[in-house]
Amino acid sequence: MHNHKTSLREQPTRELIQLRAQAANHLAATQVMVGRLVAEHRACGKPNCAKCGPGQAKHGPYHYFLARSGGRGRAVYVPSNLADQVARYVAGGQASAEALELITRINTELLRRRELD
Ligand SMILES: [Zn+2]
Repeated sequence: MHNHKTSLREQPTRELIQLRAQAANHLAATQVMVGRLVAEHRACGKPNCAKCGPGQAKHGPYHYFLARSGGRGRAVYVPSNLADQVARYVAGGQASAEALELITRINTELLRRRELD
């Protein structure tokens, strides 16, 4: 889905419509989250903590989900046992967002051709 940025204008309408149908398959997914999963290490603030000394890794990682459109307070803590699952949802969200972008580009091209269905 990444090699169509410049070539859409050269593809026959029939192929564009096929490509659009493939992209639409990604949109049928419900286990998606559009945003980022971030991992942070944090200092605990206790004096003489062995993990928080200079050059140490500190505590964590602590995972957070940041919704792309979440606005203020959008960071949601993700327990470690759910981090892999959320990572899969985020990957699915990325695929869906790219699919939506591709569909928009295809429909824009169809509009140029006056072939919007
Ligand atoms: Zn510490």
